[in-house]
Amino acid sequence: MSLPQTADIVIVGGGVIGASTAYHLAKRGAGKIVLLERLPYFGAESTGKCAGGVRAHFDTEINCRMSQISLAAFDRFEAETGAEADYRKIGYLFVLTREADAAAFRSQMDMHLRLGIRTEWLDGDEVRRRLPMMSFDDARAGLFGPDDGLADNGSVVQGYISAGSRLGVKALTGVEVTGLRLEAGRMAGVETDQGPIAAPVVVIAAGAWSGLVGRMAGLDVPVQPVRRQLFTTTPTPEILADWTFVIDFATNLYFHREGTGLLSGMSRADEPPAFHQTVDEDWELTHLEAAAARLPLMERVGIARRWAGLYEITPDHHPIIGPARDVPGLFLNTGFSGHGFMHSPAAGLLLAEAILDGKPSTLDISPLRPERFREGDLLHEYNVF
Ligand SMILES: Cc1cc2nc3c(=O)[nH]c(=O)nc-3n(C[C@H](O)[C@H](O)[C@H](O)COP(=O)(O)OP(=O)(O)OC[C@H]3O[C@@H](n4cnc5c(N)ncnc54)[C@H](O)[C@@H]3O)c2cc1C
Repeated sequence: MSLPQTADIVIVGGGVIGASTAYHLAKRGAGKIVLLERLPYFGAESTGKCAGGVRAHFDTEINCRMSQISLAAFDRFEAETGAEADYRKIGYLFVLTREADAAAFRSQMDMHLRLGIRTEWLDGDEVRRRLPMMSFDDARAGLFGPDDGLADNGSVVQGYISAGSRLGVKALTGVEVTGLRLEAGRMAGVETDQGPIAAPVVVIAAGAWSGLVGRMAGLDVPVQPVRRQLFTTTPTPEILADWTFVIDFATNLYFHREGTGLLSGMSRADEPPAFHQTVDEDWELTHLEAAAARLPLMERVGIARRWAGLYEITPDHHPIIGPARDVPGLFLNTGFSGHGFMHSPAAGLLLAEAILDGKPSTLDISPLRPERFREGDLLHEYNVF
């Protein structure tokens, strides 16, 4: 497909956020939409490297509501896009071993129940009963979300690309945006390694690279790239297909069933921001030891695959969604801080509403506005790992 010279809206970044944004704009008949991804295929960066977890239990109402909109969209994804999201409601079980975490999660439950999010509070014995293969003598409590679980990241990004393309989106791979064009202080288009595209509206959906793209318009987009790594194991027949997603919250360690084995990750809290994506073997050893301490069968299995990718972290662990007030025509949909896959349906829908209607009607996303950082009006999310 050749590079168009003009567009109504250009979206920079073909991960799940850019793909969802393009689809939702096209569904609303937003005109000529061009989605640009620099790599040879869509979803090749954070989206393709994610663990596939989807959940509703957050500490802030805005995150919970973003999840509710998104989980409902995963439920009807096939009817809407023609592709299977493979949303499996195996549940998330947060295991809480510290008193402070148990108190914090317990205090969130009123909000969860008020929003209609199904939630079960477990005492330590119930956690141990549900996870007989795990060593959780120190579990004080657990929070279980029965509607949480997994979805297929590859299918979701491709589903949005295909459905968007059927609605007229020009989705192009192998095109890198190298500059943002401003005229009289407002957005006028993009420069790419294959030529310019004139457009009055540009969306930055470049994940961990959004800060670099923002700088092309002189804008400070406070998104930091932070490495996260995972591995999958050789077959673990003792773990059943519907085994829940388990998080040892105090250590940022998590497991879920993946194919015939397990997937496990452990977020390193002091990982410095950087763009490198090689597996840190020292950290992998720490991770393996922690994993075996919680799930002794890990000592008998091997690593099947390992990889690292980037979280796109903002200072308050919430996304940045909305217009960049200093640059009319420029919009941000980025900074999902490690939960962008699960929030991608809501992110695309809400930014499409912000662009086309001036203000989203599905949910008030003003707390996510880009200028909150300079205003010092930050949010705080406890349930991140
Ligand atoms: C190990 C790991 C596990 C994770 N687990 C989960 C999970 O269980 N659940 C969950 O919800 N989230 C998870 N995440 C987070 C999730 O993957 C991200 O939040 C989400 O994929 C962000 O999507 P995105 O489209 O913003 O970014 P990306 O998928 O990174 O897409 C951005 C795209 O922009 C492109 N781009 C950048 N600059 C340019 C340019 N100048 N021109 C053109 N294209 C450009 C990049 O090539 C990239 O493809 C995980 C992330 C990692 C790394």
